Amino acid sequence: MYDAMVVGAGLSGLVMAERLCNQLGWRCLLIDRREHLGGNCYDAPDRNGVLTHLYGPHYFRTNTPELVNYLSRFTAWHRTRYTVRSFTGGRYWSFPINLKTFEQLVGRESSQEEFRRWLDERRQPIVEPQNSEEVMLASVGAEFYEKFFKGYTKKQWNKEPRHLHPSVCGRIPIRTTREDGYFDDSFQAMPQEGYTAMFNRMVDSCEANLEVRLGLDFRQAKEAFKYRHLFYTGPIDEYFQACYGRLEYRSLRFEVDSHSAQSLARQGKSGFWQPYLQVNYPNSQQYTRIVEIKHATRQNTPHTNVVREYPQDYNHANEPYYPVPTHRNLALYKEYAALASREKEVTFLGRLATYAYLNMDQAVAQALLAFETKFLAHPQKRAPRLA
Ligand SMILES: Cc1cc2nc3c(=O)[nH]c(=O)nc-3n(C[C@H](O)[C@H](O)[C@H](O)COP(=O)(O)OP(=O)(O)OC[C@H]3O[C@@H](n4cnc5c(N)ncnc54)[C@H](O)[C@@H]3O)c2cc1C
Repeated sequence: MYDAMVVGAGLSGLVMAERLCNQLGWRCLLIDRREHLGGNCYDAPDRNGVLTHLYGPHYFRTNTPELVNYLSRFTAWHRTRYTVRSFTGGRYWSFPINLKTFEQLVGRESSQEEFRRWLDERRQPIVEPQNSEEVMLASVGAEFYEKFFKGYTKKQWNKEPRHLHPSVCGRIPIRTTREDGYFDDSFQAMPQEGYTAMFNRMVDSCEANLEVRLGLDFRQAKEAFKYRHLFYTGPIDEYFQACYGRLEYRSLRFEVDSHSAQSLARQGKSGFWQPYLQVNYPNSQQYTRIVEIKHATRQNTPHTNVVREYPQDYNHANEPYYPVPTHRNLALYKEYAALASREKEVTFLGRLATYAYLNMDQAVAQALLAFETKFLAHPQKRAPRLA
């Protein structure tokens, strides 16, 4: 008998389990159907000892110092800057779009004023963009939209951008300065020894209050264990046996290419395989991007690896990585959310259970907020300590 079972040992489940065990002294069972902690943030060394992000690159960034303080209990950090280029028309373009991108387009130095004027002439007068195509036409116009966004988005989602919520393309900043970092957040950093090391420390900190079972699905665990409260971070439609129909998810296939120092030397390279952390391929190749995470982890090794990312449909044999934000899916999610609100002893958390594109800091914030408002602030709702 446990005070709580936490389904999913991703970031959301780990944060909640850590808080329940360490702050409230609950006895928790944390399960995951994968064989490792960390969900999609999991990282591990490849055959040459190079830290690899096996489920796509995870660039930690936030504007919230409280979240950094919380995670810093379990890791030291090294600050980093995420640099991305877009490869199209046979050359690398500065990306996200900024003054340097415009200078590459016109083939000479320019100014913020000239770039702003150029954008103003091309922006389409769409006051309230209703989808991802409209949001880009309204912010950069057709030329940049087609060069950098249209093909990438189509490949990533297998849907026309006009069928996707404005937030899909609207997340990428557009700048008229020469600032070419991928993000604007004040804190951009990687856990010094990687995410998995941080997660191991979170689990260790709970000592005997936390039991972890990996390779175990909720369907089996709910029959096998007794618990007072359930925290569920899996797909919400799966929890309700898809009673209203299936939500759509997008999946990915990751192809890891490890390069030893010797193989790099044979290719005339040293230390790194490509000049940038991430190169996007909006208009060629079947993959969307190639990421060489060593640029961000700054690991001191002569070897490296790159990961190519191939978007795929989700078919229940692969992983559901991204909720697909179409009108149909968002409306369907609302129906599941209404059912979820009636499950008094269940808390739904994280990307899959709240069907939202949460970055890591948002996932941590959501879990901490749920803990504080539902459990810490209402001691009467706490489960009694078990003998
Ligand atoms: C390709 C990719 C790149 C990303 N890059 C970034 C980035 O650069 N920066 C950033 O901030 N965020 C990034 N994210 C988002 C980040 O991964 C999430 O914020 C974070 O993983 C959310 O954690 P979670 O616990 O909610 O979900 P998950 O990591 O998905 O964890 C959920 C866990 O639940 C388990 N589970 C599901 N159903 C069951 C079941 N029935 N029984 C048992 N276990 C179950 C799953 O196996 C999984 O381990 C990226 C996401 C993806 C997919």
